[in-house]
Amino acid sequence: MDITHNPLWHMLPVAVMVVRDGVIRHVNLACQVLFEADTAEQMVGHPTTEFVHPVDQQRSSGRIQRVASAPESGIPNKSTEIRIRTCKGQLRMALFTSVAAEVDGLPSVLICGTDMTHQSEIQAQLRESEQHFRRLFENMRDVYYRTNAQGVVLHVGPGVRQVLGYDPQEIIGRTAESYYPQSSDRDAFKAAIQAHGAVSDFPGQMVRKDGRVIDISISSQAVFDDDGNFAGVEGIYRDITQRKNLERELHRMASTDTLTGMANRRVFLERAEAAFAHARTENQPLALLMLDLDHFKQINDHLGHLEGDRVLIAFAQAVQLLLRADDTVGRLGGEEFGVLLPGSGHDGALAIAERILQHIRDLSLPGPQGQPVQVTTSIGLACQLPTDRSLRDLLDRADQALYQAKRQGRDRCACA
Ligand code: GH3
Ligand code: MG
Ligand code: MG
Repeated sequence: MDITHNPLWHMLPVAVMVVRDGVIRHVNLACQVLFEADTAEQMVGHPTTEFVHPVDQQRSSGRIQRVASAPESGIPNKSTEIRIRTCKGQLRMALFTSVAAEVDGLPSVLICGTDMTHQSEIQAQLRESEQHFRRLFENMRDVYYRTNAQGVVLHVGPGVRQVLGYDPQEIIGRTAESYYPQSSDRDAFKAAIQAHGAVSDFPGQMVRKDGRVIDISISSQAVFDDDGNFAGVEGIYRDITQRKNLERELHRMASTDTLTGMANRRVFLERAEAAFAHARTENQPLALLMLDLDHFKQINDHLGHLEGDRVLIAFAQAVQLLLRADDTVGRLGGEEFGVLLPGSGHDGALAIAERILQHIRDLSLPGPQGQPVQVTTSIGLACQLPTDRSLRDLLDRADQALYQAKRQGRDRCACA
């Protein structure tokens, strides 16, 4: 049975026509739609060239003749786009292929066509949005990345040039170890991805190609293949060093005394609470020194407030230099300082207090007229006792000891 008598002929979604000797012999319904023919007669009996844009007529006829002249090969023409003119005079772009076939018992050519006019529009839109996307992607300060299940980087955006100083090519095909070196950061990230499938604003640090360490924040999600197996991670990371520096600066400002740079009262008391609790649970000694400069009012009165400030700064720095890394010095107010000595018992703390007293005695600061300014301090020492209910008890004892040191003549340490 000829293809044109097959009931499927008019149901085919693609346009099909039968051509013999350059003349159209049959068209299916889809072909009428493509060529905007109200009836088959508007096309049947007409030469194909009537419906082809002059620019493409020669190419179109050549293709038809090529398959017609070698019917035994059965090889169709490669698809090509040809501009057509519809019965209503519209110009359209359609994709055609043709093959030799016997129809009505005669050697003929079957031509199939698909309207591409719309597709070209879509493609143009796609191209445009692709360009938009690419511009956005290339100028993005965030770094897009995608890894496989083994953590090997498959894609990385051009933002990596700015953020890490690497060319994308230097990153692709490698794992993140070299520029995301802290294994604890990486492990925490992997654990979060495994637990939640995605992370948002996950913090970490990376090392740039030039060696500079930057703070980053990652937002990513796990990617799964069609079978639901973990196939890698996809997301973005961004440089948040500036924000982190600002946060660190704010934190520093909120926790340090602006004049001396030591811990402020709030932070000192927080650390004292922590040290108190730690000493209790670990059954370890903790000593507290309370320091108050002697006759400081006179320094202000004789040398001025500014000079008094300079003395306070020098005093705090001198005390700090005599302490260990675990010890904390904080300004409790005015010319009063606290020193926390974790792990120190009475004797050890007394030795440190004596060292501070001697050092401050020896400290000779140049005054406004070059004359040496001498200061001394009084110290109250208290050690944590098993009977202490709270830090308050320890602070009170140190305070009482300080009062005693003042009463006993200053420039000395008294113990409670
Ligand atoms: P004492 O030996 O009994 O401690 O005598 P003192 O003069 O040090 O005692 P008092 O507590 O009466 O005076 C403390 C002085 O410290 C008074 C205040 O003007 C001064 N002071 C407090 N804070 C500052 C500061 O930030 N800068 C300066 N320059 N002086 C301060
Ligand atoms: Mg004082
Ligand atoms: Mg005082």
